[in-house]
Amino acid sequence: NKFQELGLNELLLKAIQDLGFETPSEVQEKAIPLLLQQDTDIVALAQTGTGKTAAFGFPLIQKIDPENRSTQALILSPTRELCLQITNEIKQYSKYVKGLHTVAVYGGSSITEQAREVKKGAQVIVATPGRMQDMINRNLVNIKNIQICILDEADEMLNMGFYEDITAILSDTPEEKNTWLFSATMPQEVARIAKEFMKRPHEITV
Ligand code: AMP
Repeated sequence: NKFQELGLNELLLKAIQDLGFETPSEVQEKAIPLLLQQDTDIVALAQTGTGKTAAFGFPLIQKIDPENRSTQALILSPTRELCLQITNEIKQYSKYVKGLHTVAVYGGSSITEQAREVKKGAQVIVATPGRMQDMINRNLVNIKNIQICILDEADEMLNMGFYEDITAILSDTPEEKNTWLFSATMPQEVARIAKEFMKRPHEITV
């Protein structure tokens, strides 16, 4: 199985087998080995349907310490639907990783309830930028231990007017974290985020 050659661990390989994924997609083949290395930032040009969620999800899961209940990874995504979809995928991919908890945080639903779930100890938060910023402002979430920040569909998020929220959130995360940016297109605003917040990102295109 070609997923083995990408450096993924047994727990992930078992979940991948359960899902029936036989071969890594192009973005997975390119991104996974890079993202499994230490201290990598990446800018990936990839459309929906290319398997990009697994391309960042597998390495993300492998890098989380499930025994540490602090929030270690933040995935920002443009809509509630996408948040729920990504959360669902991460949960499936991490089904054999005991103690790994993923929570979706998005607008239009009880912030108190979401904050309660986060407080129980979610290592991974999948959020829309507006609600995430709201939670940060109200001190309902601690992102000081974030090691990985993923911007998914960055062009969409910026189209929707989330520039201020995204930059505010990124400014609240530790300097030493890694940032993985995925976008279908590379307008100037996306390039600006990459330039301001990322360290010599590897670039991949599929
Ligand atoms: P995405 O581009 O992340 O929205 O993924 C599109 C769909 O492809 C999702 O339903 C995944 O479950 C599925 N998928 C991702 N990677 C693979 C793979 N290597 N083989 C088969 N299906 C996959």
